Amino acid sequence: MAKEGQIKNNLALFGGERAVKSQQEDMFKWPIVTDRHEQAVLEVLRAGKMSGFDITKEFEKKYAQLLGREYGLAYHNGTAAILGALYGMGIGVGDEVIVPSLTYWATVTPAYNLGATPVFADVDPDTICIDPKDIEHRITPRTKAIIVVHYAGMPADMDAIIKIAARHNLKILEDCSHAHGALYKGKEAGTFGDASAFSLMTGKSLAIGEGGILFTDDRQVYERAILFGHYIRHDEITLKELKPFAGLPSGGYKHRMHQLSSAFGLVQLELYPKQMEEIDRAMNYFCDLLDDSLGIRPIRPPKGTNTTKGGWYYPHFRYIAQELEGLSLSRFSEGVRAEGSICNPGCNKPLHLHPLFTTMDVYGHGRPTRIAGLDESTKIDKYIEKLPVAESINLRVFEVPWFKRYLPEIIEEHANAYKKVIKNYKALLADDTGKDAEIGGYSSFFSSQKNTQ
Ligand SMILES: *Cc1c(COP(=O)(O)O)cnc(C)c1O
Repeated sequence: MAKEGQIKNNLALFGGERAVKSQQEDMFKWPIVTDRHEQAVLEVLRAGKMSGFDITKEFEKKYAQLLGREYGLAYHNGTAAILGALYGMGIGVGDEVIVPSLTYWATVTPAYNLGATPVFADVDPDTICIDPKDIEHRITPRTKAIIVVHYAGMPADMDAIIKIAARHNLKILEDCSHAHGALYKGKEAGTFGDASAFSLMTGKSLAIGEGGILFTDDRQVYERAILFGHYIRHDEITLKELKPFAGLPSGGYKHRMHQLSSAFGLVQLELYPKQMEEIDRAMNYFCDLLDDSLGIRPIRPPKGTNTTKGGWYYPHFRYIAQELEGLSLSRFSEGVRAEGSICNPGCNKPLHLHPLFTTMDVYGHGRPTRIAGLDESTKIDKYIEKLPVAESINLRVFEVPWFKRYLPEIIEEHANAYKKVIKNYKALLADDTGKDAEIGGYSSFFSSQKNTQ
């Protein structure tokens, strides 16, 4: 019997049976490590080739071929690949780079290493990617590049962004760390920019351990990136203006990839397309099951556009509280998690409000690092943006299970967890203390995709 005043329900949060009952192990395990991976890594270990670069070069070549780009350059992580790409593209002191505020910090911080100023733009609420409508009015004579993130696997609006870049003679860097294999109107993420950079760390869709890679068709970008942080490969430098400086890394960085990663990666490149297909099928099935539910909307590309989310890294849905009488997102998530599914409110916190970008003097310039490379008269206030979507979207999206396998019965259990909570949402309204203010974080890895069972 329901207590007086409490609506009758069978929610797990109130002691009912959980909607998710099956063993989940194979569903979320990532990367899937096979005998082939183990063999490839063991060979490197036994040959003592951990710090070499022969296998890494093979990996670069193979990945560049698959993507259809001229040059690939591997890094020890994605953050370094972004730094190398920006230097390669000629970004330096006093330049401005337009970036989305909603992304993992490594999209933006490498600009500081080069003395450049990041200028934040808002994101589109439907895609969570940089909003092309919020770019153009931020362009100044100092603007050199736009960094695009295909956020959570969703390709950004490249047609519009490419037009803007062409109109103002700006370079484009694609941060593809969420979007391995994703297609924008049939063309793969990472093939649009003057350069593209991918993280390949364990949490990403194409996971090889710790690693990153830069792609470009531009010999100058490639050689500048080699000069900057790949000193052992300076014999590849052919350009007249770079040659005299070969021998020492111009950036003072050492960017080489560990060969346990590249050996693992060579196997992963072969297996990933099939795995990606299975993930895409699983995630679309989950979305289909919940497409018509009140209060939630899957975030996925419109059908029939040949736009895809690749490996569906960090998948999110939108939350529409009004359809559930204003039920807070945190309370909703609590309900779903109690059912044994995954429902993490929010996404990355907006970067433009963090003191690293508003006040901090990181290197002792005597003023905020954000404007350290600009004219002395420049005031930081001019660079402190108001970005309404980035500032509020954490209350309007949540992370859903990232299924690695197409196991329909288990996917149905998770969809049922959501359906059950939506059906019984009135029971959650009563004790809704609405802790939404605490939602979001600067990093998703390790906190997410842990099944609660
Ligand atoms: C993970 C990530 C990076 C950084 O990659 P690491 O390999 O972790 O250094 C950069 N940009 C985005 C959007 C990321 O998610």
